[in-house]
Amino acid sequence: MDIRATCLNCMDGRVQLPVLQWIKASYPVDFVDVITEAGMDAVLSGQADISEILRSIAISVNLNKSTRLFVVGHNDCRGNPVEEKIHRQQIRDSVERLKSYWPNQEIVGLWVNASWSVEVVSK
Ligand SMILES: [Zn+2]
Repeated sequence: MDIRATCLNCMDGRVQLPVLQWIKASYPVDFVDVITEAGMDAVLSGQADISEILRSIAISVNLNKSTRLFVVGHNDCRGNPVEEKIHRQQIRDSVERLKSYWPNQEIVGLWVNASWSVEVVSK
């Protein structure tokens, strides 16, 4: 069975490869299922309807047997133009929210900085 992870990221093309490469370098993962929204950290921590995101995560977890979820925020996000401090809080809040749905998954919060390097915010 392939080892799967699930990545909840912004749709911004600049962050896709840095995050996927970091995940594959940091964890024993064969494939990463990717779910995107403009400003994913704001969407998951806010009041928006996230039912479609939850449906995608459920397929990744229940059918693809993903055991790790990553929530990503990034520098210069046009879909969520807030200060880094707020991004980091939103990432932590997103992780906590997803833990309430998937308490048995490892859920890791990531920040992509101005150098397009990945930092762990929470795990
Ligand atoms: Zn963005």
